[in-house]
Amino acid sequence: MASRSYLTWSVPKLRAELATRGASVGGRKTDLIERLKAYDRNRDFQPPPLESVPAPVSVGWPVSGYQQLQKEHKVFLPKITKEQIDQYFVYRMAGDKQFTKDIKAVSKGNAMFQGNRVQACSVTVKDNSIYFTGIVGAAMKNKVSYNYKLKMDKSTGDTLNSDCECPAGKGHHGTCKHLAAVLLMLQHFTETGSVVIDKSCTENLQLFHKPKATYHGVPVDAESIPSRKRPSDESLEDPRPAKFRKVPGYQDYVRSLLINYCSMTSEDIALRYLFGKANIQVAAVDHYYTRIPVTEYWVDEANKILASDSFKIWRNLQAYFTKKYHKTMSKSDVC
Ligand SMILES: [Zn+2]
Repeated sequence: MASRSYLTWSVPKLRAELATRGASVGGRKTDLIERLKAYDRNRDFQPPPLESVPAPVSVGWPVSGYQQLQKEHKVFLPKITKEQIDQYFVYRMAGDKQFTKDIKAVSKGNAMFQGNRVQACSVTVKDNSIYFTGIVGAAMKNKVSYNYKLKMDKSTGDTLNSDCECPAGKGHHGTCKHLAAVLLMLQHFTETGSVVIDKSCTENLQLFHKPKATYHGVPVDAESIPSRKRPSDESLEDPRPAKFRKVPGYQDYVRSLLINYCSMTSEDIALRYLFGKANIQVAAVDHYYTRIPVTEYWVDEANKILASDSFKIWRNLQAYFTKKYHKTMSKSDVC
């Protein structure tokens, strides 16, 4: 179309062609050619023709007569295979022009089936079809659930129609993970006969108004309640190796080591404050063999003054007493 060479056409022919397409016919020849080309490109600016719309499918879902799926239903259900499920999904997704390799819905549905997301399933038989309906919980939300409907051939077990409330399962051939979960649950049921359906909220008798088992023991003292706290002697554990702990005389040994070391070196070791001060009275009694009482001996020792020191003191005293305010000073101030 676009390759049509309008350049060779005459102006009346171009105008006639534009008129047949419902376009304006005014302008120069180049304008007419441009306009015609534009009409070619855009299909005469007509809305695209409607493709054939499929006739609405009427599944005729039964509205009553459903029974909750039970073990007894296994006898009239045909055996459903995994291949049938896969094929239905591939076939329906291909029909919907979806990427058929991507049948993640089945694997996701398997995870939901394993996670007990199929919450309810009821079944009824009508003519040559088996109908299922029920609820599947949403994958990530506990409070959201979707209703589903399934139609199955009574003799072969092929899925004929499927519908789910979720966006992916809309229509009469929904292929969402919820439907996959239901189909896998039915496959499991027809194979093993066990109904893997999460219990509905009303299935268990509510018992919260009844008291739980009462305690029949005796009262327990607070101190005898087992505590998870570690005992304090563990947290302040003796860092010494076990063989040095609780050795008789060890404390005295350390104490005399400390005292001797401090007196010899004039070091002030913080550890020595661990031990109480010496009791002078006790020490005096202990040293009964000295010539004079120990307290007096200590005072004598403390007041022992060398000849050079006494000369220094005498000179300082001289200096004090020659000062103008020497009268205000008492002797005790000098000493
Ligand atoms: Zn769904």
